[in-house]
Amino acid sequence: NPRPRVVVADPLPRDGLTLLEEHCHLIDAAGANLETLKRDLLPAADALIVRSRVKVTADLIAAAPRLRVIGRAGVGVDNIDLEAATERGIVVVNVADGNTVAVAEHVFALLLALVRRLVPAAASLRQGRWERNRFVGEELRGKVMGLVGFGRIGQEVAQRARAFGMVVLAYDPYVPEARIRELGAEPVSLDDLLARADVVSVHTPLTPATRHLIDAEALARMRPGAYLIHTARGGIVDEQALYQALTEGRLAGAGLDVFATEPPGESPLLELPNVVATPHLGGSTREAQAYNARAIAEQVLRALQG
Ligand code: NAD
Repeated sequence: NPRPRVVVADPLPRDGLTLLEEHCHLIDAAGANLETLKRDLLPAADALIVRSRVKVTADLIAAAPRLRVIGRAGVGVDNIDLEAATERGIVVVNVADGNTVAVAEHVFALLLALVRRLVPAAASLRQGRWERNRFVGEELRGKVMGLVGFGRIGQEVAQRARAFGMVVLAYDPYVPEARIRELGAEPVSLDDLLARADVVSVHTPLTPATRHLIDAEALARMRPGAYLIHTARGGIVDEQALYQALTEGRLAGAGLDVFATEPPGESPLLELPNVVATPHLGGSTREAQAYNARAIAEQVLRALQG
């Protein structure tokens, strides 16, 4: 029987896909627009692989009558209409752990940029100024890191925070306290964490329970001069309330990698000097992308053969 046709609709490192090339007919459709996908590529596809650009809607799934497998080369499957896929008996596979270290390192990229005033200091020097007194920083050593969510990424952040000499608090009702202690963190309630942390870093999924978990009230409980780092999912932090807290000077700064709407357009947050923001780059390293490509290739192949 003919080789299954696998449409790769987002850019993935080619060498990650050699496994699929050996067993399937691989169609490289990175950058293809939705119309081309629907009209030319999906009607004959047995499997579809995406990262996060392509939204796998019910409409897109309907254009692929032969589709048996959808692969997401990353963690979040919120760009896939799971209900529509399930209805058709389509298997959805993802890669859970490929971005973990990349995101954990990005937390410190954002945090160190904030506490050392890296972005404004570099801009000032680039403009020919030499303002050594204006950009006095703060050290992480001895500060308290509060992790909201202590899953894969939260745990990697905890290890790195300890290496910086930080005290680590963790709020995660689904992780046993013993496990939290084992990793050198102190299990606490959310209120305790907010009251004690110099840095609050968010690492939960976006669920009905975590939507606006960090709202005006939570931000008001944070220590004056504390920092917020958000690399999890837009919607967990109330952006309007965060803007208030930053402009009123209650928080010292925020490092943001994710937004309620992506791209965030003309969000006023992006104009604040004490905000360092990146366009959802937490998981975007060469290493993570290569791993994700290899891992999704294996999973899609297994699902096609299974
Ligand atoms: P994970 O599932 O390993 O960990 C999430 C943790 O959150 C779990 O331990 C869970 O118990 C906890 N949790 C769930 N609901 C909670 C609640 N109401 N209060 C407190 N804790 C709660 O996930 P992960 O791989 O560590 O990913 C964490 C977040 O990072 C996710 O939102 C994920 O989408 C995001 N992420 C972002 C990027 C990026 O590029 N910025 C990349 C990968 C993942």
